[in-house]
Amino acid sequence: MPIKNIYCVGRNYILHAKELNNPVPESPFLFTKPTHALVESQGQTIVMPQERGSIHYEVELVIHIGEKYEPGKEADELIDKIAIGIDFTLRDVQGELKKKGLPWLLAKGFPNAAVLSSWLPFEGLESIARYDFALEKNGEEVQRGNIKDMLFDIPTLIEFCGKNLGLAEGDIIFTGTPAGVGPISKGDHFILKWKDEKVGDFFIGS
Ligand code: ZN
Repeated sequence: MPIKNIYCVGRNYILHAKELNNPVPESPFLFTKPTHALVESQGQTIVMPQERGSIHYEVELVIHIGEKYEPGKEADELIDKIAIGIDFTLRDVQGELKKKGLPWLLAKGFPNAAVLSSWLPFEGLESIARYDFALEKNGEEVQRGNIKDMLFDIPTLIEFCGKNLGLAEGDIIFTGTPAGVGPISKGDHFILKWKDEKVGDFFIGS
């Protein structure tokens, strides 16, 4: 089944909210991306619209929903697989939109703005919390995260999306980025890691 909705959570790790001088939110803060933004990393070159300004990487744990949300259903029942993803962001464009109080769609929704590793088996939230996800850029680790450090945990995010927006089979949620986001350049090589193993990689093209 193709992916339906792409929900993304902003400012879900305190250290990341602070590195961009953003206030820490009091309830989950969400935005979406069009499905045209999706691309699976398989060692290829992925084109980024760098002519539109600075682009930042944000590595995130991504959950895939396998059945329709109903109040009371547990996150462990609803999630059927996970991936490591990058929420690519046109940071200058986002800054302009923020100043004007406009939605972030143009900064977050461009083609290839949602890069995914291959899908990985979901072994339960307790198990996920025992491992880190990480991002390497040109051989150097630039981000490392663990769901234990989330401001709003995965059950809270699922309930929030389910109640306010609807959540069903084929929907995915980018659950927020830890600290360490930064800019990309043409030719950069990124490696997505889960349990300290490579689960996807790609190069930046323009
Ligand atoms: Zn993000």
